[in-house]
Amino acid sequence: MTFATILNKKDFNPEDLAVMLTAKGEERKLLYSHAAKIKQQYVGNKVYFRGLIEFSNICSKDCYYCGIRKGNNKVERYNLTDDEILEAAHFAYKNRYGSVVIQGGEIASPKFTERVTFLCREIKQLSDNSLGITLSLGEQTPETYAQWKEAGAHRYLLRIETASPGLYKKIHPRDSHHQFEARYNCLKTLQELGYQAGTGVMIGLPFQTIDDLVNDLLFMQKFDVDMVGMGPYIEHPDTPLYQFRGELLPIGERFDLALNMIATLRILMKDINIAAATALQAIDPMGREKAIRLGANIIMPNITPGSYRNDYALYENKPCTDEDPDQCANCLDVRIKLADGEIGYGEWGDSKHYMKRSRLKTLLPGKTAL
Ligand code: SAH
Ligand code: SF4
Repeated sequence: MTFATILNKKDFNPEDLAVMLTAKGEERKLLYSHAAKIKQQYVGNKVYFRGLIEFSNICSKDCYYCGIRKGNNKVERYNLTDDEILEAAHFAYKNRYGSVVIQGGEIASPKFTERVTFLCREIKQLSDNSLGITLSLGEQTPETYAQWKEAGAHRYLLRIETASPGLYKKIHPRDSHHQFEARYNCLKTLQELGYQAGTGVMIGLPFQTIDDLVNDLLFMQKFDVDMVGMGPYIEHPDTPLYQFRGELLPIGERFDLALNMIATLRILMKDINIAAATALQAIDPMGREKAIRLGANIIMPNITPGSYRNDYALYENKPCTDEDPDQCANCLDVRIKLADGEIGYGEWGDSKHYMKRSRLKTLLPGKTAL
């Protein structure tokens, strides 16, 4: 079967996906142009902003890959004040970003739950109910997720990191706080609560194979996720996984593999939202724009107050850590145009997949379509 025939199939088996993920040269070009065509057809050329607020780098977990893990005592810990967070949200509102993402280390305590609830309510209020809120605060109880949804959050990002339980074990401590099953159940709960549930994986992890990545794609499809944010794994010197850096794919190949993953996912799940991960930009200054050209439609400009950005170093060479949000806004405007995109200013840009899913749910047997 030719490569072009595979691309035009209706259903893809694991072998097809592996061929697409490993495409090089002319085949890679075909993969990218096909994914770009599908993107145009199903989600259009609009790119939606999610202003990223890196809330705090204090984390109770010890993931082996992450620079802000609890065990890294070289990190200066910070916790933005409520005013700083609300000011950043106001910046997003004023600049018509449409939505904010509140992301940070994982903390589970009643005080933390209450604080996030308060912040969600305030963000809704300061924006005349117009800013969309995505949360990315790790694993929490169903009650906490429900409370945050009630307070105004409507999307949640929880990367599964890898859908292979064996690999998951290798990149996390083997204790009750780092369980694949628990993370999976959280994702299920989020979906059941009616959040637009987003997941994602790291690409190019030590010990990861093409079969693992194929498995990741099939996981996303089976889970019927509404949005995905995935990017290359980038080693951080103060983490346990750094010792395996000699076994990693060269950084350029990891980048290409991440782009192949994004293009393949766009072909597999045509109407979902796909974010152009910041980690792509850490490798190639135009990394996010390249991802937008071939399938991604979401970008998360960093609107964390500048002085804290250096301390939220999940990986090495995190880009734009010295800029202030005003500079980011102008820079992105130009960049998206260069990638033939158009920014959906002031729009939520909800996943079309989610809208289709929720419409279907309301059309249960016995109900009419009107
Ligand atoms: N604590 C929350 C959210 C913050 S971490 C959580 O873990 O869900 C956000 C994401 O950063 C993680 O999901 C992980 O995929 C990514 N990340 C962490 N370390 C990384 C690294 N070294 N390279 C690339 N991505 C990394
Ligand atoms: Fe904490 Fe998230 Fe980093 Fe894991 S990936 S250590 S949960 S911030």
